[in-house]
Amino acid sequence: MRIATWQWGGRRHAGLMSADGREVTPVALDPAEQPDGGLAIVRRVATDRPVKPSGARLPFSAITLEAPIPRPARNIFCVGKNYHAHAREFGLSGFDSSTTSAADAVPEVPYIFTKVPESVIAPGAPIRIPSGVSEAIDYEVELAVVIGRGGTRIPRSSALDHVFGYTIVNDVTARDWQQRHKQWFLGKSFDTFCPMGPVVVSRDECDGQVNVRTFVNGEKRQDAHTRDLIFDVPALIECISQGITLQPGDVIATGTPVGVGIGFKPPKYLKRGDLVRLEIDGIGVLENPVQ
Ligand code: MG
Repeated sequence: MRIATWQWGGRRHAGLMSADGREVTPVALDPAEQPDGGLAIVRRVATDRPVKPSGARLPFSAITLEAPIPRPARNIFCVGKNYHAHAREFGLSGFDSSTTSAADAVPEVPYIFTKVPESVIAPGAPIRIPSGVSEAIDYEVELAVVIGRGGTRIPRSSALDHVFGYTIVNDVTARDWQQRHKQWFLGKSFDTFCPMGPVVVSRDECDGQVNVRTFVNGEKRQDAHTRDLIFDVPALIECISQGITLQPGDVIATGTPVGVGIGFKPPKYLKRGDLVRLEIDGIGVLENPVQ
């Protein structure tokens, strides 16, 4: 199941995208569910309610794709420094307020922060650099988990039973704000700083063991595999759900690998006119211009 959300005929629809990405089939939703787009389908599956087609298939060229979960019900959970090589890269960059010595560059527990739901934008929508606020804007490709069945105190052994599927998130970051304000929240939550998509792929079609890549204007910047995560998906679910009850449709961005802009000397920040392309095998391509 590949869940997509799109605009067509002047309103939002959600449904299933074909494996080749060429067609979408809308799913019947109650009027109250329609604003939630693909989130409504995730909730239906999580609560064993029907997911039925509601109309004819449409060619992809006829629709305007949105983020599969265009407005998450609450903040997106994110994990900082969750790949070894990136933890060292970031710890040594001078931008990491969580590191005071080389010894603590690699976390011993997951570092969790969040992005506001309003930061989510669609594939193809522009990432906006806010003039006069920050020019130190960076990209981060991340495998994002979408929770299906909710739960609390979920043990690692059954954590994957709570995963609906996976999507791609670009954890766009204002590095100077991340550094200056110590807490990462502000620098991670600027408007347009959470491109998401193109689809949510259910766990039976994507097991989350995937390659993740970033290209900026065609130049490869990040290329890694999720087997290199310091804290894997079950560990993250176990940790977060200890004190916070997870809900269907919650999104957990699992962290980014080595190759972010501040890892270069001098840093390679995003500039207006750039095109950022994220790829995750089995999920697709998430491409956004920078304005
Ligand atoms: Mg990140």
